[in-house]
Amino acid sequence: MAKRVIGFHYKLFDSKGQLLENSEQQGPLYFLEGHGQIIPGLESAVIGMNIGDTKKIDVKSKDAYGEIRADLVIEVSEDQFPKGKQLKIGDQFQVDQNHNSPVFIVKNLTNGKVTLDGNHPMAGKDLTFDVKISAIRPATAEEIAHGHAHGEDPAHFHHD
Ligand SMILES: [Zn+2]
Repeated sequence: MAKRVIGFHYKLFDSKGQLLENSEQQGPLYFLEGHGQIIPGLESAVIGMNIGDTKKIDVKSKDAYGEIRADLVIEVSEDQFPKGKQLKIGDQFQVDQNHNSPVFIVKNLTNGKVTLDGNHPMAGKDLTFDVKISAIRPATAEEIAHGHAHGEDPAHFHHD
């Protein structure tokens, strides 16, 4: 069967029912099926749905952003950072230019030591999605070549 692009609106809640994300402002999320564009526990539930279908989908952390990895929490010396850069808790940056490398967040600053956490902010969390399917269409050859969806109207899509 031809690959499909699926668009859906979602609300994302943590295990306490706290709303974390809502697709209403930015519009529906589009993904190319079978390319790991969205977390596995969500994709496996969404691919069986039709346009207009709604579903509450519970995703355990292992099928979402994974468990918290202790090896991604590292401590470095503050003088390894560029001089004049005023670090503060909550700063985010990538250690190298590869866009697949984890984003590290400054978790703590004490006595010239910086604690960095490269875990995804949602690692270790069980998540619940309220999903509504807004679009299903065949993927274009370009989308299949790129391995990702080009949004609502692929003919007018431009990469940055
Ligand atoms: Zn592309």
